[in-house]
Amino acid sequence: MSLATPARWAGALAEAEAQALRGTRGANPLVGAVVLAPGGELVAAGFHRGAGHPHAEVEALAALPPHWRALAAELTLVVTLEPCRLSGRTGPCVRAILDAGIGRVVYAAPDPTPNAG
Ligand SMILES: [Zn+2]
Repeated sequence: MSLATPARWAGALAEAEAQALRGTRGANPLVGAVVLAPGGELVAAGFHRGAGHPHAEVEALAALPPHWRALAAELTLVVTLEPCRLSGRTGPCVRAILDAGIGRVVYAAPDPTPNAG
């Protein structure tokens, strides 16, 4: 199994931040996520649209092409905020990531709340 190298993470994080800025400002933080193939190419992206909508990680996973779903263990999810384990309206991102079988998660900022994964 191979995964995107750390050299690609900073660029991917910038792309995740750009995704985050597409969201609606409100009570929830702006969060963006991208998924990298083993070679570092971006294969999916997502952002949090606002309260009550799926979180960025879930949006990015939903955007995965079928080909990559089958190879999830080789994918790296890069997200601007530590994935949550919050069982609110949209379900915990940590569970969605584990269920998808993603090989690695890289996040920029730890979530200081009790909802962190
Ligand atoms: Zn979440």
